[in-house]
Amino acid sequence: MTRVLVVEDEPGLRRALAINLRARQYEVAVAADGASALAAASRQPPDVVVLDLGLPDMDGTEVIAGLRGWSRAPIIVLSARAGEPDKVVALDAGADDYVTKPFGMDELLARLRAALRRSATAQDAPVVATEAFTVDLAAKTVKDRSGEPVRLTPTEWHLLEVLVRNQGKLVAHRQLLNEVWGPRYETENHYLRVYVAQLRRKLEADPSRPRHLITEPGIGYRFVVA
Ligand code: CA
Repeated sequence: MTRVLVVEDEPGLRRALAINLRARQYEVAVAADGASALAAASRQPPDVVVLDLGLPDMDGTEVIAGLRGWSRAPIIVLSARAGEPDKVVALDAGADDYVTKPFGMDELLARLRAALRRSATAQDAPVVATEAFTVDLAAKTVKDRSGEPVRLTPTEWHLLEVLVRNQGKLVAHRQLLNEVWGPRYETENHYLRVYVAQLRRKLEADPSRPRHLITEPGIGYRFVVA
């Protein structure tokens, strides 16, 4: 059984989430604040976490930071704040996806299934194939559709690797800059524009209409297989 930890201080929503998840055969643990969420997670490590950002005792991003210290379980953030900065902060802290309140239960369940699929794929499949190119994360090679090696600079490879390892997931500008160039470069968004454009020229069938290296305007980039 897949274990879901639901962290939500609003009793009605917490109950609705638990009922819906249990009806779909998930094992559900609930917490009403950040401290009990972290305690529950360390007692019984969850496979996936649904986390409200606005909690009574601490900010949801602090819960993300606390979990990310030891857990790779996907975290889906519930945010009542429609503004972009909160989502970016949550993604930077290590959240995998977000759903804006009010949301439909079907949408949340679909996001949850997708996050679980991605975390399974990321662990099991070091070779990721699109119709235009194939990335072998273990061998650190890229081949085009006819099987010819594609030459990438070390920086291009590193950027591609981070995106492919986070397959399907939105990776924020800051996280990419931090992982590829280092913490002092976290605001140098133009590096990303330049290097993503280079990767698209080398990898995408039509670089002006990328199908795999996708821009999420104002937030970051996402690698998708199709
Ligand atoms: Ca709340």
